[in-house]
Amino acid sequence: PAMTALSAIPAPAEAPAKPSLLGLTRAQLADQLRALDLPEREIRMRVNQLWNWIYFHGVRDFDAMLNVSKVLRARLADRFTLARPEVVSEQVSTDGTRKWLIRMPRVDAQDKGAEIECVYIPEADRGTLCVSSQVGCTLTCTFCHTGTQKLVRNLTTPEVVAQLVVAREKLGDFPGLTPPVDGIVPTGEGVRAISNVVFMGMGEPLYNLDNVCDALAIMSDGDGLSLSKRRITVSTSGVVPQIGPLGERSGAMLAISLHAVRDDLRDRLVPLNKKYDIAELLQACRDYPGASNARRITFEYVMLKGVNDTDADARELVRLLKGIPAKINLIPFNPWPGAPYECSDWGRIEKFSDIVFNAGYASPVRTPRGRDILAACGQLKSETEKLRARARLAAE
Ligand code: SAH
Ligand code: SF4
Repeated sequence: PAMTALSAIPAPAEAPAKPSLLGLTRAQLADQLRALDLPEREIRMRVNQLWNWIYFHGVRDFDAMLNVSKVLRARLADRFTLARPEVVSEQVSTDGTRKWLIRMPRVDAQDKGAEIECVYIPEADRGTLCVSSQVGCTLTCTFCHTGTQKLVRNLTTPEVVAQLVVAREKLGDFPGLTPPVDGIVPTGEGVRAISNVVFMGMGEPLYNLDNVCDALAIMSDGDGLSLSKRRITVSTSGVVPQIGPLGERSGAMLAISLHAVRDDLRDRLVPLNKKYDIAELLQACRDYPGASNARRITFEYVMLKGVNDTDADARELVRLLKGIPAKINLIPFNPWPGAPYECSDWGRIEKFSDIVFNAGYASPVRTPRGRDILAACGQLKSETEKLRARARLAAE
């Protein structure tokens, strides 16, 4: 929800004349090579070579692919590019949080264009990239700004993957690149600038499951981008029938946007609850493939003043999660103009978190990061839209 959808204004980048190979799966790369009439016996080897250059080395130019013959490099360059989506702007917070506005080229003539924001949060022992799965969202959670805008479209697999590639590039996190001078990056031994990815940007990932699963496979491929699956977390508002398939197909970590402990309240906060209630949701969590004490499910709980933040709510939360290998993440509500809620007072959040802590859940409050660049959930859309509206007026 921390993300911005900026549809249609200004004119989106035109669909490129030559397609980019960035973001394709191995099978898709193989198909592209077959279209070049490469002999079938060569395809596998060539795919492996391309894969390593594109995803491990992050090269932008076919000429850098030294173990590929000059002739084939020229043929590839004739038909394809390694183009990335354009980074329209970059903002850096005093705490090291970075926010990029990324513009995707049109996928077809009807496409109004997609712009999304991607946020990087460095910490001592990890660097987390927050990515989007859709432009906008079809769901209408009442505390979420993304929910107030209508879905523009699902992101494609390459568009999901490109968020990681572009961010690594910006952070100098490919061989041969240098980190930015104003960068704050994690310092742990062997920790890369981006060690974790969370699908907590715009959109409901489980409504775009095929593309998200393909993107997860590319991101976690050990010969390429090499993220650990245990460090990729997919957050859902509770699309129960897709939770099992997500686990089976991707092996990703699961986060649930719970936010309420009673159905009547959750119906209001997360309207999808009317379709899949709390009991069904928690059962899907108990059944989640691979969940264990070493691979806990994260339960997100946004703190809304006078709505879901009493001691009784906290005790009920602990009771509900009994028997599920769980982590609890208390999120201070990020207000946006016209939002029908306020963030709980700090003292209230502390009381709530004490109850949760005493029940055995460690350090559950998510500290707001990047406040100075409006990188927090729910704020970005409004600010960027204000700027957009101003630009539009100026252009009229
Ligand atoms: N659609 C998915 C993933 C994106 S939302 C989902 O709902 O889980 C990522 C997290 O941010 C969710 O827990 C969501 O409830 C929360 N969120 C949305 N708007 C927020 C706001 N204004 N303040 C704080 N958290 C918010
Ligand atoms: Fe926002 Fe997630 Fe709800 Fe969509 S599902 S409206 S992104 S909180």
